[in-house]
Amino acid sequence: MFSRRAFAGMIAAGLTEAAFAQRAKLSGVAPADTVWINGNEFPEGPPQASIDAMAQIIGGSNRYHYQEFPAFYAKLASNEGLTAEQILVGAGSSEPLHAAVEAFTSPTIPLIVPMPTYEAAPELTRYKGNPVIETPLNSKMAPDVRRLAAEAEKAGGGLIYIVNPNNPTSTIVTSDDMSWLVANLPKNTKVLVDEAYIHYATSPEAATAFRYVKEGKNVIVARTFSKIYGMAGLRVGYVAAPPELIKRMEPYRNNVISIVSVRAVLAALDLGPKMLAERKAKIVHTREELCAWMSRKNIKFIPPQANFVMIETGRDATDVQSAMLEKGVAIGRRFPPLTTMIRVSIGSDAEMAKFRKVFTEVMAS
Ligand code: PLP
Repeated sequence: MFSRRAFAGMIAAGLTEAAFAQRAKLSGVAPADTVWINGNEFPEGPPQASIDAMAQIIGGSNRYHYQEFPAFYAKLASNEGLTAEQILVGAGSSEPLHAAVEAFTSPTIPLIVPMPTYEAAPELTRYKGNPVIETPLNSKMAPDVRRLAAEAEKAGGGLIYIVNPNNPTSTIVTSDDMSWLVANLPKNTKVLVDEAYIHYATSPEAATAFRYVKEGKNVIVARTFSKIYGMAGLRVGYVAAPPELIKRMEPYRNNVISIVSVRAVLAALDLGPKMLAERKAKIVHTREELCAWMSRKNIKFIPPQANFVMIETGRDATDVQSAMLEKGVAIGRRFPPLTTMIRVSIGSDAEMAKFRKVFTEVMAS
């Protein structure tokens, strides 16, 4: 993990702003009843069982509870058919993503990314003075695995960062493409697959990359409890990778996470896949309704596979964002080079009804 001074430096330089502080930045002008569909969070909180488990442990948070962590790591890992040696847990997936950048980029080893994508990893890489190589998306607005591999080959190795489904385009890297990439990794190259939104994918071509971790490939998979689990404020995430890669990232981890968050996650895991299936169904239903509405209105958008959608406005995205915020709808930031598209998170049905009303008003003005 970077030092406190380095982190303060990043904040002073505004480098963390896009990824971490956009809500704080927006809230100054947001009306009190603003609908927050800018951060790809889940519209409801954690499952009730997690809330109950947290209430139970709060009184016991005078203790560190270090002794509980080995069992927590083992359970988290076994939930995905992994072992504790194959995961590294942190404050959200942000912390282990940063650990991967720290461990696997250097002044001579670049981060290789499709653009646009989630900015935190490229921002940290640049802040450290390490090179970032950007590649365009493919014709389906998804990360182009062949171009990413070609750049890694040219550079003599690197860390390829793929968000699957990609943020902000909500498009997937197909399982065939991922399998091609893993089979054709240039030497000294690792792939970091960020699966923050994998739970929402409905395409039969979507698949997790956990199998490559299990096969011992140079693949690191990031997961978070901030999205479908409704726990963004609890800060829990992890990376999964072969044990030798985990060992190299471990020195950059800050510490254990909060015991309150641990108990919330354990209670959620106990609920099994049904809870996730119900949450997915809700979001997919609302997403399909929004897409059907946009199609009827001839509004162009990229067909989404995550809990957000990129919509074409024909105007500068920042202007649309400001106009919508004034009317109480906070949407995602501008994602160059897609400067006329807005990223809209899928909220509750009521939130999306307000989105439709305000978007119609803004686009008519
Ligand atoms: N990865 C992606 C693709 C994201 O979109 C986000 C947040 O929006 C994160 C990682 C970081 O989230 P967290 O640190 O809450 O897991």
